[in-house]
Amino acid sequence: MTLVIDGCAIATVDGAGTEHAQGHLVIDGDRITSVAAGAALHSSAATRINGRGRLATPGLVNCHHHFYQWLTRGLAQQSTLFEWLVELYPIWARLDAELEYAAARAALAGLALSGCTTTVDHHYVFPHGGGDVLAAEIEAARQIGLRFHACRGSMDLGRSRGGLPPDDAVEDLDSILAATEAAIDRYHDASSSAMLRIAVAPCSPFSVSEQLMRESAALARTRGVRLHTHLAETVEEERFCQERFGCTPAEYLDGLGWLADDVWLAHCVHLAPDAVARFGVTRTSVAHCPSSNGRLGAGIAPVTDLLAAGAPVGLGVDGAASNEAGRLLPEVRQALLLARLRGGPAALTARQALAMGTVEGARCLGRQDELGSLEPGKLADVALWRVDRLGHADMADPVAALVFGPPAPLELLLVSGRQVVAGEALLTASEREIAGDARRAHRRLVERVEALP
Ligand SMILES: [Zn+2]
Repeated sequence: MTLVIDGCAIATVDGAGTEHAQGHLVIDGDRITSVAAGAALHSSAATRINGRGRLATPGLVNCHHHFYQWLTRGLAQQSTLFEWLVELYPIWARLDAELEYAAARAALAGLALSGCTTTVDHHYVFPHGGGDVLAAEIEAARQIGLRFHACRGSMDLGRSRGGLPPDDAVEDLDSILAATEAAIDRYHDASSSAMLRIAVAPCSPFSVSEQLMRESAALARTRGVRLHTHLAETVEEERFCQERFGCTPAEYLDGLGWLADDVWLAHCVHLAPDAVARFGVTRTSVAHCPSSNGRLGAGIAPVTDLLAAGAPVGLGVDGAASNEAGRLLPEVRQALLLARLRGGPAALTARQALAMGTVEGARCLGRQDELGSLEPGKLADVALWRVDRLGHADMADPVAALVFGPPAPLELLLVSGRQVVAGEALLTASEREIAGDARRAHRRLVERVEALP
């Protein structure tokens, strides 16, 4: 199966920043075999796609999400992170595998329609008797057709032990470690073409015991999988860590061996300059979530400083309860705007922002050798955007059109060479059915909460 995309602009996002004003891509099976300027050699066996007026970029990589939150969008609208969590935890504690499946399909469809080919989900709510929630979201990702890094999350620090979540929303340490190891055994694919990987992901310093943080790191390192958690999202978290541990969130993680090149951390908004330097030296990655940080008024992450220090910085939409839009391309623009609000108009270029959404994200997941740029030998994860319509047609620079302009129509999305989106429509599932299922699942969740004594 050979696929040729001809006549399009190409932003390869490779190490040299190679771009072609008019070029072609050749895809054989699940790999890219050629990316170059000019027309492709004629081959009658190939399926050809006319790329005129389109821009090809690597498929976008989403480094942080919580699919289940799709069912609790639009709540706690004026709350800080801690207020928002306290309001939502009791609702989330009523989640089960069936509701997770509906939420995950809605979240995944939104990601695919916004150019995402690889996504993370950080799932840390496993209610007793809720069924196999992790299996439900893995099945949803398989069905929608996105490459999936499932983070087996966890919380073991309930309110009675000084944590933030209610006791009925947390698990005990031994069952968490056993379930996480079982997920690695059952699902983790270490091969370079993997569609599914597992990471170990305790939720945050204020919902997880120190022992769970240590044992999670030990488990991940024994099994050769990556580590993920939330860090330094708000000033309240900083205060919590100072009171409980006598140090900043970054110092706390550093002491636990969690600043390292096999770790990526969501948010990292409140980092002192010495912490930024530590991230650079240790090559700790960051999943920057600009819309979510704005929605919760958390602050602006020092993205430019982190990149300058040498820390990889990818992008995340974050859970849909703090980013109701749930689309990935708009996060590229949002990252650019926030970096400039913090550091002025030269703080981040359109091309740096696109790199964060692609190759930097691949680096966060340890997959820069096979994902994140359009180069021969890499996996055929490609987004083809229309830049020939009202929103973009008059801009001569197609990358500027994509990043500064309105969300570009997605002409084609390939994951491992397989078409997932064509002509702005999802090919792998019915958008109408997904929307209906999500609406019914939301109602069921609300009814469960209303039925509580
Ligand atoms: Zn999050």
